[in-house]
Amino acid sequence: MRFKPFSEWGLPLSDRGLMLIAGPCAAESEAQVLETARGVKACGVSLFRAGVWKPRTRPGTFEGFGEKAFEWLVKARSETGLRFAVEIANGRHVKTALEHGVDVLWVGARTTVTPFAVQEIADALRGTDIPVLVKNPVNPDIELWTGAIERLANAGLTRLAAVLRGVSGLEAGHYRNAPDWPLALELKQRFPTLPFICDPSHIAGDTKYIREISQQALNLDFEGLMVETHFDPENAMSDKRQQLTPQQLRELLAELVVKSHDDTASEGVQKALAAARCEIDQADMTLLATLARRMEMSRRIGELKKSANLTVLQSSRWEQVLGRAIENGRRIGLSEEFVRDIFNRIHIESITQQQ
Ligand code: PEP
Ligand code: MN
Repeated sequence: MRFKPFSEWGLPLSDRGLMLIAGPCAAESEAQVLETARGVKACGVSLFRAGVWKPRTRPGTFEGFGEKAFEWLVKARSETGLRFAVEIANGRHVKTALEHGVDVLWVGARTTVTPFAVQEIADALRGTDIPVLVKNPVNPDIELWTGAIERLANAGLTRLAAVLRGVSGLEAGHYRNAPDWPLALELKQRFPTLPFICDPSHIAGDTKYIREISQQALNLDFEGLMVETHFDPENAMSDKRQQLTPQQLRELLAELVVKSHDDTASEGVQKALAAARCEIDQADMTLLATLARRMEMSRRIGELKKSANLTVLQSSRWEQVLGRAIENGRRIGLSEEFVRDIFNRIHIESITQQQ
């Protein structure tokens, strides 16, 4: 599948080539939309975002103003020139949003998990070529995310992008959602031409962490950011702790460092990189040969156990092996978590080989 790069979306990109999307979690009033749109326009963003229908996990909380909010968004667009994006979760949302001249749509994390809803959205979009952003599903399921992209692409859409907004169900530490970078990297492998952006706001859950997450996304070559921004976050009707003010957004954008690709480096740096990569390739070969030798020995032990009628799994022996590996690893600068992960995986393979 081929997807159009951001440079062919017809939206302005930042001077560093990024797709920058900003705006409030939800459109709350004409004044809030106008004030926030003016603020983010002055930061030079590509697109304004605002939730019109809010998918809330629990009922009885603010669910957005619905259709009425389009009036405010259209007004903000004519005043500032900023095009706007809203979230859609079903065919009726798509129809209403298109009738009001929406510029870009996004599928939220609670919708990407539902193939029926995604298919309904795709059917409602057939024949348009509107840009659609697809957030990762709330749970770290690569197939659901892949399937959502495929359903929309099969409906003829060519301007699609993936948005990493983090997942629940994995250890998130002090963040609201675990970023799960590997999930995005896996999707990128499946769709090499699909543009990727990061939503640091829903990963962080708190403005404190937005900068570190955004920088990490740029280091991993994400091509844009979607950052919740509100002119008065303290009085926001949803997600108040994670919304930046336009002033904070401006500071964030000034602080972020956009790294270049290898091919822009000097000849000296490129040569040094090539040499280091050669060494890595060598080390990988040695690593594989060592693993193969280790499995060969496991099988030999398996034979011995079998002929002596012993159990395959001997927990106390394994605890010794793991404890020693962690200790030795620590001495040569490998973290306990890393050694534990690798050795547990090796142990599983050893047991399989011994059976
Ligand atoms: C949002 O962008 O406001 C939103 C509801 O996001 P998500 O679907 O990522 O939770
Ligand atoms: Mn939100």
